[in-house]
Parts: sequence; C-alpha cells; structure tokens
Amino acid sequence: MKIGVISADNASESRVALTPDAVKKLRKLGFDVVVQSGAGEAAYYADELYQAAGANIAMSSTEVVTQSQIITTVHDLPAATTDSLTSGQVIVGMLDPYRNTRLDTYAAKGATAFAMELLPRTLSRAQNMDVLSSQANLAGYKAVLLAANEYSRPFPMFMTSAGTVKPAKVVILGVGVAGLQAIATAKRLGAVVEASDLRPAAKEQVESLGGKWLDVPMSADEAQKAKATGGYAWTPSEQYIKDQAAVVDKALTNADIVITTAQIPGRQAPRLVHGATIAKMKAGSVLIDMAAGTGGNVEGSLPDQTITTDNGVRIVGAANIPSMLAAQSSDLYANNLVNFITTLLAPSTDEASVDKLALNLDMADEIQGALAVTHEGQLRLAKR
Ligand code: NAD
Repeated sequence: MKIGVISADNASESRVALTPDAVKKLRKLGFDVVVQSGAGEAAYYADELYQAAGANIAMSSTEVVTQSQIITTVHDLPAATTDSLTSGQVIVGMLDPYRNTRLDTYAAKGATAFAMELLPRTLSRAQNMDVLSSQANLAGYKAVLLAANEYSRPFPMFMTSAGTVKPAKVVILGVGVAGLQAIATAKRLGAVVEASDLRPAAKEQVESLGGKWLDVPMSADEAQKAKATGGYAWTPSEQYIKDQAAVVDKALTNADIVITTAQIPGRQAPRLVHGATIAKMKAGSVLIDMAAGTGGNVEGSLPDQTITTDNGVRIVGAANIPSMLAAQSSDLYANNLVNFITTLLAPSTDEASVDKLALNLDMADEIQGALAVTHEGQLRLAKR
C-alpha cells in the first residue's frame, strides 16, 4: 500500500505532512511512500533525506495522487489534482471542513476524506493524533517571541545603574492550548501576565502558571452552561460579552503586549478587542491576533499583516504561526498523522498478501467516524 505526500500549494505554508522520520516509521510498517519533489524543502527536509528514509520522489502532485492509496497533506489537495482522484482513495489533512468547497468533489469521486481538526479531543486514545493541540502549543510559544520582537522594550525587570526597567505587562485572551503555552513562555521571559477565558476551569490553570486571572462576571445560568460543555467554549450571552468587553478594556489600557487566541471551530472567531479599547492603549504596545485567519479577535487585524494604528499600537495578524516553526511543527504533525493512519489498518484477508496490512475503514469507529467528512460517495459533515 502506498502513502503519498504532496507539497502545500500555498506560498505562505512551510510545513510538510510527513517528515523523513515519519517515512521511516511507515516503511517499517510495510508501506511504500512517495513524496512530491520539494514538499519538505521549506521545513528543511530535502528530497535526499526522504530518499534516504526509503521514499520515492515524484515530480508532480498529480503523480503522487495517482500513485497513492492514502494521500497526506497539510491543508488540502491542490485543485489541479482532484480530477485524478479515484474511488477508495483516502485523503488525510487539516481540510478546514466548514469552509472547504471541494468536499462535494471528494464525495463524488468516492474518496474518503479525513479532516484532522474534527478529532474528538477528550478521547484519551486520540490524544497522540491531536493536530490542533500539537500546532497550537508551538504557536502559543512563538506568538510571545513575535510580540517580544515587535515590542521596543524588554520583557524582564532589570535593575541597572542607569535605572530600573519595569517588566512588560502581558494579557492573554483565550487560554486553551496556545494561551497556556503563551502564559508559560511570557513568564519564562520575565513578564507579568494576566489572562481570561470564558471557561471558568481555565482560572486554576492560569494561576498554576503564575498568571493573574481576569474575572468576567458570570450568571448562575452561564456557570451551569460552562460546566455542561465539558470544558469547551460555550456561546456567551450579550450581557457576558458586554462585561467581558469592560474587563478587557480596563486590562488593555495598561497592557504592553496582548495575545488573543480565541477560535471556535467552524465559526467566525469572537471579537474580543474593540477599536475603542485599542484607541486607549499605550503607543508602542503590541497586539498579536492568533485568530486573524478566521475573522480575528481584534478589530482591524488583517491576516499576515502588521499594521500600526494612529495611536502607535502595533496589530499583528498572525494567521499561521505554526508555519514559522515549520521543522518542529511538521515533526509533530507527521507524528499525529502516523498515529492516525496506523488506526486505519487491519491484517489483510487477501491470501496473496498474508501478513500485510490492509485499509480497514470503519465509520462505526469513534475516531474515524468523527474525522471522515466524505465516505462512499456521501458528504458526512454535521452542520454547525
Ligand atoms: P481554541 O483554539 O478553540 O480556543 C482557544 C481558547 O479560547 C479556548 O480556551 C476557548 O475557551 C477560548 N474562547 C473561545 N471563545 C471565547 C470567548 N468568546 N471569550 C473568551 N475566550 C474564548 O481552544 P483549544 O486550545 O483548542 O482548547 C479548547 C478546549 O479543549 C480547552 O478546554 C482545552 O483544554 C481542551 N482540550 C482538551 C484536550 C484533551 O482533553 N485531550 C486536548 C486539547 C484541548
């Protein structure tokens, strides 16, 4: 059985779906692997490293698609390759299922497409396949470094003979995987950190990392709702949104750095920082909007652009931070994919290939069933 790796057809994506180490693991399991020439180059994985790991190199994405039973990708297949898909092929990637306009084509072609973002994250056996966590963890770390680079003062306190340097005040909005890593990184750099999230459970995690919890008042009804969502984001009331804006407004007036991470799968990111608040912020302060690619938490942020407001605030629209750490992000992403792909296999019942593994697609399996957005001609994506 052959697994293919295609190159991202997007100049702003430096990651690759499988690394040479992942190829070695798959070769040991008995797979053949074909890699599009140059697919790993931006992550510092040259074709020669893939060849040394036992992969063949193909000159085009179409060649990879026509040869492979399982096609791995960071995001999606290049448009030019979809005509070459045949029934029974498997696509594995971060397919952005709620905005993906190619799913009908995948279904019509009879391909099974797995969108890795839909992983049921509370399942313990799924944790080593969790691409959102592996990428968000690195992104949270790098967001702080981006902020430190944009900021014209240091993060730690310094006592010098020329005077005392005050530590930077960092505010993190949205304390999931990325937010927690951002808190830990900002603390390591010596900043004073405050953070908020609409999940009350995040308070303890913020405090355990040495951050101060920014509390937004919550009605008994909302506290109940927050509990019932099992630790995931819930839809806040208008009153909560108003109270949250007031808490954010007060905190940001004194902040030097703000990092926002709040995203809602399949929906527009919530607006957490409004123009009126930004207008009160100090000149030289920096906002890193990690949700810039899905609508933005910060008013006025633009994906992959840095803008300076009239009052001297820098707004960085950081749409794809994991790509900036392409080598490490690819390593972890590839591990996630190998862990998932190995669950698709069962010993072959074909006598000619006894002892070999065969694809065992099973929509009753809680992981496969959750990730498959097309299968046997059907579109399986649940509405949001
Ligand atoms: P995410 O990227 O979806 O969002 C980031 C954070 O923003 C979340 O903490 C979310 O609660 C918060 N947020 C969303 N809307 C908000 C709003 N309007 N105001 C304020 N904050 C808002 O989050 P994530 O990093 O993917 O994590 C989501 C949840 O999944 C967390 O509870 C996390 O602990 C949990 N998780 C569990 C597992 C596991 O059990 N294996 C693995 C990973 C994540």
